[in-house]
Amino acid sequence: MRILITGGAGFLGSHLCDRFLAEGHQVIAMDNLITGSTRNIEHLAGRDDFLFIKHDVTNYIYVEGLLDAILHFASPASPIDYLELPIQTLKVGALGTHKALGLAMAKKARFLLASTSEVYGDPLQHPQQEDYWGNVNPIGPRGVYDEAKRFAEALAMAYHRAHGVETRIARIFNTYGPRMRLDDGRVVPNFVSQALWGKPLTVYGDGSQTRSFCYVSDLIEGIYRLLLSDEVEPVNLGNPAEMTILDFARMVNRLTGNKAGIVYEDFRIPNDPQVRQPDISKARRVLKWEPRVDLEEGLQRTIEWFRERV
Ligand code: UDP
Repeated sequence: MRILITGGAGFLGSHLCDRFLAEGHQVIAMDNLITGSTRNIEHLAGRDDFLFIKHDVTNYIYVEGLLDAILHFASPASPIDYLELPIQTLKVGALGTHKALGLAMAKKARFLLASTSEVYGDPLQHPQQEDYWGNVNPIGPRGVYDEAKRFAEALAMAYHRAHGVETRIARIFNTYGPRMRLDDGRVVPNFVSQALWGKPLTVYGDGSQTRSFCYVSDLIEGIYRLLLSDEVEPVNLGNPAEMTILDFARMVNRLTGNKAGIVYEDFRIPNDPQVRQPDISKARRVLKWEPRVDLEEGLQRTIEWFRERV
């Protein structure tokens, strides 16, 4: 296959480039580099099965030749990033998805949308199943991401129904691993870099809010299977092993040997979801997929990667 990956220089996008190239496909990575980095793909430079195009996908996308699939992964994805880039976040989810779907239609390519557990907002159903419609504050600071992704899902379904585009929707839950930006503000890079600097970990609120963390290689496997599957409606991809942020902080301190402890700080951003855990029965059933890397093992690998960079 010849595949376009928008956001191809980002955390997930660059891992997808690696995976599709390893399976023998040709990959075009597109990125405007506002949150992505060419460092994530520099090891691919010079390959004749790989091409990088610096481009903002909210503008018209031109790609020469055939395309078999488009994976739309361009978007700021950290709450701190989308707070700083609210209009770009809305534009890439709305206009960028529109351009990418238009291209998919023109090329008769399969289209996969990187959606998010944020479509469930601060959920009133727990764990979250795909048929839950969510609890999102449209005008809160997270609304720029949540609503853009909700619009993107609606647009993908519309292109499927109106134009027969083969669309796939992955609802991605918290994913971590090598190539996350040290300063992206999310909890894994924050805690791991703080711990490696010997500083106390900054827990927002009382740390009783929960998250469920998925290691990047597991997530990439899920995306790969979803693209090749026949499932048009959204599929949750994440690791159901849920824990409180406070327990997560303790775990990071234990694994790094950090003695500086924990400090409690006010939430930086309102409407922080109190709980989050994917129900992955559908992915198990339809994709025969489930995560394999447990949190301790994944964190060890992530800590090693960060250790060389902090
Ligand atoms: N968080 C924290 N300390 C930090 C960064 C994040 O306590 O230094 C908390 C944050 O309030 C949230 C959770 O960790 O409850 C996960 O935050 P993240 O930014 O990784 O992504 P989210 O899951 O909220 O999209």
